[in-house]
Amino acid sequence: MRSLLAITLSLHFLPGIASANNQPNILFLFCDDHATQAISAYGGPLAEIAPTPNIDRIAKEGMLFRKCYVTNSICGPSRAVVLTGKYSHLNGFRNNGDTFDGSQQTAPKLLRKAGYQTAIVGKWHLKSVPTGFDHFEVLKGQGQYYNPRLLTNGKIVNHEGYTTDIITDRTLEWLENRDPEKPFFLMSQHKAPHGRWEPAIRHLEWLDEIDVPEPPTLVHDYAGRSKASTQHKMGIADHMGPHRLMLTYSSKFTPEQFAKFDGHYRPRNEAFLAANLEGKDRARWHYQRYIKNYLRCVKAVDENVGRLLAYLDEKGLAGNTVVIYSSDQGFYLGEHGWFDKRWMYEESFRTPLLVRWPGTIDPDTVNDTDIVSNLDFASTFLDIANTEIPDDLQGRSLVPVWKGITPSNWRKTHYYHYYESGGHGVPLHFGVTDGRNKLIRFPEPHLDAWELYDLEADPQEMESRYDDPGMAEVQAKLKEELARLQDTFAVPTE
Ligand code: CA
Repeated sequence: MRSLLAITLSLHFLPGIASANNQPNILFLFCDDHATQAISAYGGPLAEIAPTPNIDRIAKEGMLFRKCYVTNSICGPSRAVVLTGKYSHLNGFRNNGDTFDGSQQTAPKLLRKAGYQTAIVGKWHLKSVPTGFDHFEVLKGQGQYYNPRLLTNGKIVNHEGYTTDIITDRTLEWLENRDPEKPFFLMSQHKAPHGRWEPAIRHLEWLDEIDVPEPPTLVHDYAGRSKASTQHKMGIADHMGPHRLMLTYSSKFTPEQFAKFDGHYRPRNEAFLAANLEGKDRARWHYQRYIKNYLRCVKAVDENVGRLLAYLDEKGLAGNTVVIYSSDQGFYLGEHGWFDKRWMYEESFRTPLLVRWPGTIDPDTVNDTDIVSNLDFASTFLDIANTEIPDDLQGRSLVPVWKGITPSNWRKTHYYHYYESGGHGVPLHFGVTDGRNKLIRFPEPHLDAWELYDLEADPQEMESRYDDPGMAEVQAKLKEELARLQDTFAVPTE
């Protein structure tokens, strides 16, 4: 397939853009905690209220995946998987307390060797100093929504403004000043829409007058699940705290920013506190406050994706640049009563993946069958660059899938492993899915539980069917598959 592609692309070769045609540019747009439920191309109840036309444009001109699953639904670990193409236990970054070993093999290092200029701008969140990049400009830790400090090739530089805009400004600046003779691999990675959800001043009033529809499972007692879910500390009703509800603020604002930001929230906060809401009324207010701020943060991301796509158009780069949009994991937008991520349940297990590659990916294509993963991204970058994919990567190149010719031996199942125990009350767990049925194991002695779901009959995962005789065959098969995958991926087991 690669030789066919090379022939096709060589027909479009233009002098003066050295090797670019068999080494297209790669623009990797990566967000933090961006749920598919908050991307209108995925449909759903928020699509009309909070459209994302610019992100949707990538899918309209390319392909959208409905079964892109992460290997470990938490920020730093997902980023380490993207860089290395290896599961957490092999790349050494199991949970957010770890420090990424930057001396190991990564996709950016291999791309650099293959002749690419490599850059990362925005969220990094792996503690160690980035390696493998010709240019890095990254937030310190989580970063803040206003006036970010960016570690810029080893030096701290302070910026004034809204972080989502600034990350794009800095991305554009790098693009303007890059070496046009070389292909680029550019990771532009937002903090947004990670909590604590501080919107841009221009979006504070947006959605103010409407009620965002509540998900049907906003109130959920988890009666059909093992007791693992009941131990959560990520409830919209009980665990948001004043900072997530914007009753207090996290960023260090300039006096002008503060006047506008506080000018919006203070009267609304005072009215809320005076009303002394309780029970369901209070939970509903929490939900509205949360979802609106989250969607406002997404709106800034969408606008900034639009700026980057417009730049590619203006500079004649769109045809020879692969654009990938994804997030480090999905997120709960009130489903099951939750915010946050971590669980293997669909909302946080699934992550967005939208890709555009003119001439290679057919426009307006939806892939809702193939199981793909952030584990595949590193192999995919290398394949796009027409360079060798080392044998020790555990994912596979998505390029054939993008072309609509999924190999017959493509994975039919996917392995998941969350290592942290206790963050937001979520216990260590692992499991396997075949895209329809999902088996989850909670091995810790205080739980010692299994869950099994048939997503076709029960898409919200309300009723575990573990040990249900009607599911005996599925259960046995998935258990066998779980063991096989643990063996294949060399996972240390309980
Ligand atoms: Ca995240």
